[in-house]
Amino acid sequence: MIAPDLQTAIARLCDLIQTSEVIVPFTGAGISTECGIPDFRSPGGIWTRMAPIPFDAFMASQSARDESWRRRFAMQDQFGAAKPGRGHRALASLFRRGKSPGIVTQNIDNLHQASGIPHQCVVELHGNTTYAVCLDCAERYELDWVREAFDKSGGRAPDCPGCLGYIKTATVSFGQAMPQHEMDRAQELTLACDLFLAIGSSLVVWPAAGFPLMAKRNGARLAILNRDPTEFDDIADLVVRQDIGTVLEPFIGVQDDKKEPRHGV
Ligand SMILES: [Zn+2]
Repeated sequence: MIAPDLQTAIARLCDLIQTSEVIVPFTGAGISTECGIPDFRSPGGIWTRMAPIPFDAFMASQSARDESWRRRFAMQDQFGAAKPGRGHRALASLFRRGKSPGIVTQNIDNLHQASGIPHQCVVELHGNTTYAVCLDCAERYELDWVREAFDKSGGRAPDCPGCLGYIKTATVSFGQAMPQHEMDRAQELTLACDLFLAIGSSLVVWPAAGFPLMAKRNGARLAILNRDPTEFDDIADLVVRQDIGTVLEPFIGVQDDKKEPRHGV
């Protein structure tokens, strides 16, 4: 069913949420656009104007690593102060109420964690851009540290002081293998839910496309909140094309709102 208007969308979603035991939200760029973070893949998005740097290129050349970090710091200046939106806050409320054991996300912006969901309950299929790791020894580095080293050396991407490995944001780049542990956890959550809530994802980028189908085949109900049609709309129990933040705002818990800011559970 495609919700014909906002009121129907909210009522039907409310019914689905109330009659479900285990809800697993799956989020994409659309949940973060109201926070000022653009959908890089959308028409007119950054990636349609500036090709992303594939993993092989990052590994092969210092200049690619320098360029990658230069772009990352430019992004930080634009989007670094982004705060969780209404969608993030609504999902955090579901989590606190015990309705949802965790979230699977394609986003790398850390906004689910910033909304109060513990990091171990956020499965990040594409990693996280708010910190960096050494690709050899896996040591974690904060962006401030990388930026200081970058600026001091006149724009050269620093190597790991411990092992001289390359340091990269903790994201999954084009051409880089999907993280197996996260894929496994995403599958576990998908198979555990009786309501799969796909939000702000076009569900075309692999592996995103696999999860709604997996949930549906396993007997879960499927709700899709996305501005544009997806190829799974036909099998969904509810399709909502209205503004995500507006649709999810009523699900922000009153108690949660009063007590904010809260950290963890
Ligand atoms: Zn290292």
